[in-house]
Amino acid sequence: MAYNGITVGSGSSSEDFSSKPCDICQRGKIQEALRESEDRFRTAFENAAIGMAIVSLEGRFLKVNQSLSDIVGYTEEELLATDFQSITHYEDLSVDLEYIQKLLNSEIRFYHLEKRYLHKDGHVVWILLSVSLVRDYEGNPLYFIAQIQDITKRKLAEEELKKKNEELRAQKIKAIEAIRLKSQFLANMSHELRTPLNSILGFTTRVIKKGGELLPKVQLENLIIVREEGQHLLDLINNLLDYSKMEAGKMQVHPERFNLIKVVDEVNSIVHTLMDGKPLTYERKYYTNEDIYIMSDRIKVKQILINLLSNAIKYSDKGTVSLFIDKVGDKYCIKVQDEGIGIALEDLNSIFDEFRQLDGSYTRKAGGTGLGLSITKRFVEMLGGSIEVISASGIGSCFTVYLPIEYKNINNEDCSNI
Ligand code: ADP
Repeated sequence: MAYNGITVGSGSSSEDFSSKPCDICQRGKIQEALRESEDRFRTAFENAAIGMAIVSLEGRFLKVNQSLSDIVGYTEEELLATDFQSITHYEDLSVDLEYIQKLLNSEIRFYHLEKRYLHKDGHVVWILLSVSLVRDYEGNPLYFIAQIQDITKRKLAEEELKKKNEELRAQKIKAIEAIRLKSQFLANMSHELRTPLNSILGFTTRVIKKGGELLPKVQLENLIIVREEGQHLLDLINNLLDYSKMEAGKMQVHPERFNLIKVVDEVNSIVHTLMDGKPLTYERKYYTNEDIYIMSDRIKVKQILINLLSNAIKYSDKGTVSLFIDKVGDKYCIKVQDEGIGIALEDLNSIFDEFRQLDGSYTRKAGGTGLGLSITKRFVEMLGGSIEVISASGIGSCFTVYLPIEYKNINNEDCSNI
């Protein structure tokens, strides 16, 4: 009896019938499995959310899915009639071909590439392309499998961000230049103002000294007010000059070896002038009875002392203003303490900001520019030190400056950028 081309029945040798049906069954099963596998592949290929293509070694599309059609705007038939070169942006072709050559030479197993396709309507589509090469059992190249992801949105966002960053960079350069010019102008102006003011102060002092006894009392008092206000104005201008110099990157450190106690003595007369009329006591305490030598910028250290002491006096109506000098490791610790109005906890972080004055009637009455502490902090940092403050409203403040005993020159570079 014949069935499906296979003969079965009596008379046939067992040898003839024992293997053939099994071979056929086996082949059938393999064919079935292959069909299933092909079906699965086809379904996966056609329904993939990203574009997929099988491409011949010459670049012709052999098989494409709907997602690829959606990305490039060509129908499946149109794509199958063309090659990937025709839809690739001409600037990106050479890179693609280089990678393909590497695949063919077995230098790489696959490659990923961000490149541009040209949509059917002419606009550029950015894609992420992943390509691998399929070979036969003997290793001969058969075709390429490509996966294509549309990344246009991301690319456009990146380009937009890049453009924005460039604009911001340009604006920043402009702003820095404007700040530099403004600081330059301020420095020049402050200098021009200081010169005549110094001579006004000098002549007023001379008139007070020489003609003091001859002048009527009221005129003498008026002249003293002129000198005090002039001095105040000079302090403000000096602060402004220092600030603008730092902003223009022109402030430099001039290190020298000097006796710290001598500088404190020099500041003494300023302290007493400022305390004049206030029920304040001024005390100084040093950790040693000997001279205290330091390698630093003398003028800046003096300015730091003046700024801290004058604030301590300015913001105190009673109590003691104390200056302590201590040695902590390789640093000197300079402490200026007062029992004045103090600073509220929430304001402590901002007092070192430029032009920052705490909004209170006392501060307004006391005058100032709000630059003293910011300049002080910058000076301390230029000298390689640090500054700290502890304070409590109504109890008093304590500013502590740590200055290296030996100033190290590396700070000079930093300070020009401050
Ligand atoms: P100003 O020129 O206003 O004194 P500063 O930069 O020296 O500017 O100080 C900033 C602010 O910090 C001051 O306006 C004041 O409110 C506060 N301040 C500074 N030192 C003291 C202090 N010793 N006691 C209380 N408040 C202080």
